[in-house]
Amino acid sequence: MAKISINLSTGSIQQDEMIVGIDLGTTNSLIAIIHPQTKNAVALKEHNQHTLVPSIIHFGNNGQIDIGEAAKPYLESDSVNTIFSIKRLMGKSYADVKTDEHYLGYKIIDDNSDKLVKIQVADKFYSPIELSSFILAELKSRAEHILKTPVTKAVITVPAYFNDAQRQATRDAGKLAGLDVLRIINEPTAASLAYGIDKKNQEAKKIAVYDLGGGTFDITILQLDSGIFEVLSTNGNTYLGGDDFDRLIVDFFIKILQEHKITITNGTKQTLRLLAEQAKKHLSANDNFSAIFQDIHLAITKTEFENLAKPLLQKTMLSCAKALQDAGLQVSDIEEVVMVGGSTRMPMVKNAVTDFFKTTIDDSLNPDEVVALGAAWQADVLAGNNQEILLLDVTPLSLGIETMGGLMDVLIPRNSKIPSGAARQYTTHADGQTKMTITVYQGERDLVIDNRKLAEFIFDGIPGMPAGLPKVEISFRLNADGILNVKAKELRSGVEQIMQVQPQYGLTDAEVEEMLMASMLNAKADMQLRSLVEARTEAEQIIFATKNFMQKHQEMITAEEIVATKNAIDNLQNIVALDDKNAIHHAIEHLNNISRPYAERLMDTAVSSALSGKKI
Ligand code: AMP
Repeated sequence: MAKISINLSTGSIQQDEMIVGIDLGTTNSLIAIIHPQTKNAVALKEHNQHTLVPSIIHFGNNGQIDIGEAAKPYLESDSVNTIFSIKRLMGKSYADVKTDEHYLGYKIIDDNSDKLVKIQVADKFYSPIELSSFILAELKSRAEHILKTPVTKAVITVPAYFNDAQRQATRDAGKLAGLDVLRIINEPTAASLAYGIDKKNQEAKKIAVYDLGGGTFDITILQLDSGIFEVLSTNGNTYLGGDDFDRLIVDFFIKILQEHKITITNGTKQTLRLLAEQAKKHLSANDNFSAIFQDIHLAITKTEFENLAKPLLQKTMLSCAKALQDAGLQVSDIEEVVMVGGSTRMPMVKNAVTDFFKTTIDDSLNPDEVVALGAAWQADVLAGNNQEILLLDVTPLSLGIETMGGLMDVLIPRNSKIPSGAARQYTTHADGQTKMTITVYQGERDLVIDNRKLAEFIFDGIPGMPAGLPKVEISFRLNADGILNVKAKELRSGVEQIMQVQPQYGLTDAEVEEMLMASMLNAKADMQLRSLVEARTEAEQIIFATKNFMQKHQEMITAEEIVATKNAIDNLQNIVALDDKNAIHHAIEHLNNISRPYAERLMDTAVSSALSGKKI
């Protein structure tokens, strides 16, 4: 429980520990706490400074590293040694990000592999995890300076669409910065906490959280009922944000400059980027922007900008429509819309969102701070306060394992609430089998080959038993960070093995969308293929079990039964080779009719198990 006494103006403090909330943003990052006296969430700032710390790192040639506001001027003067938008590279390979290389002033390494991308600064190579840890370490030290106490525990937010690899990367960055990351939560969920907390006694309602930040867009549909937040669906795009609006203006200005035969260098682009952002912010409150750049008059009107930006806004609206569809809701079901992210300050964004949802929008909190404030509330819950608030998120893709015939057996379906768990029993297909390969997949397709492999492990130490006798329970536990723990346990002997699934390298948003789209387009063909594969697997199991049975109990089966069974097996084997699931079912039925009388007479548990249940 919070035994904290702190005076933020004098900095005096006595406390056991402080858990902070951190919004590690693409453009800006910040840190917030629950004020011990007012019991309200506040973003931390040093005297006369901003709460936002620009997510920018500059490496000086004397070894000095500047972070935040101090690093900003170097975007222009020393762009190759100045890192920004590092969040876009978290958990990604070079192939994932090469289309963006052109906009980044610094060097990312093309190692022609699927490995995580590295950034080169002078003769050193950094991972996005290390670079993010610099930002987190800076936030930590600022917080310690302000609070006058060590800060070692944090809740960090990530975009709703971050996959396991990206969440793990964020957690690792925290660890590198000396922080114990107690929880990774989705940004829209954090924002809804910040907004929802004072509304918890009201009637149940459905809320849309529209979050357009510097580099990412998220839409979350959630339900708020008696203080419980439940995320119904999420959608978004990690490649759509304020930066993209800036680029439109950069390109607009470049055209003007090119008309005046000005050469565009990397440095020019960086300067234009800052000018474009200034223009964009200016146009949120004014109708025109103009500036002199290298003796050229650059101007853009609000209408010109809004026309250029229409396609970007439409993209966000498409995501909103998809999220509603996933939640099984209509626009009219949404009672409130929460605005998050600095880019929602643009009037055209507010207008478009109001038009789409046909309801008033909630933008009373500072859109730049709201995510960190929500993270602070979550930190407060973890500190033992506010226990009546629960957080439920959903998983964007189904999780399952491969079963015989290369089929996907889903244990945790897409859009399941997390934390969540599921368990199912499997058995062996060979006598004396002591090992089983457990392969974990993510995706919506019926065949694992079309899904994404997350991990594979060999469960060994199964005591030798007849095929079908071992009862192997596979359980999945998806924790609140979206990290999956897989456990295999042979129930008769109690032998068990646990592994944590931390994929080396994750999916991009586009890939997630592509996978969902492919699953819809291929649903019918997949279903047909699945039933064929299932029929074949069933046939193979029955042939195996019947042969096994005959061998063990030969003396108890009549000669006629043996001949009839052998013929029926030959027939089934021939038909399995054809692509006709109905014919396979008929042949199975025929074999069953022949074996049923003696099987019923002599059935033992081993064979009865072998005749039913899924096998890996
Ligand atoms: P965030 O990631 O939430 O910090 O969002 C920062 C983004 O909001 C940047 O792209 C900023 O340029 C943008 N932004 C901040 N203030 C304004 C404004 N007044 N008008 C338009 N965009 C803004």
